[in-house]
Amino acid sequence: MFIKRLQILFFTVTLLALIILGYNWYKNYQFNTNPLSKEIMQRIHQKELMLKQKAKEYYSINTSIPILISNKMPSRLFGVATTNGKKIAVYLNKKRFQESVDYMIDNVLPHEYAHAIMFKLGFLTNKNGGHTIKWQQICINLGGIKCDRFVNHEDILINKIPGY
Ligand SMILES: [Zn+2]
Repeated sequence: MFIKRLQILFFTVTLLALIILGYNWYKNYQFNTNPLSKEIMQRIHQKELMLKQKAKEYYSINTSIPILISNKMPSRLFGVATTNGKKIAVYLNKKRFQESVDYMIDNVLPHEYAHAIMFKLGFLTNKNGGHTIKWQQICINLGGIKCDRFVNHEDILINKIPGY
């Protein structure tokens, strides 16, 4: 009788684990194969409008900077700002949205947008990974949160074509 109960318990636990595993796999699969949800895209758009407004207010910049969602970026990167001298763009790493949507929109996006504004204003410096005092001021003016100058990552690409 006791053995039987143990068997049932073991079976239940195994089944439960399999269900959880399957559910997680399914969730990851869904996330990886679909674009970001409408709700998230809407939030990015709202933030973009705010950033554009600030760029106009502080720097008289009227043009749009494209914000692109990529799933081909290296996992270590949250976002990147690029320029080839003419075109300027901000890339956000889709994979990172799975962890925290808030962080990507409130911290990463204004941080990268500030790099893009630097490019727009003609500051094409790679010094300190582009995290100059001027950049920091722009980041703060844009309402950014992640405007720390002492970051140990490279998140700007100048005159290099991103592979994503
Ligand atoms: Zn940066």
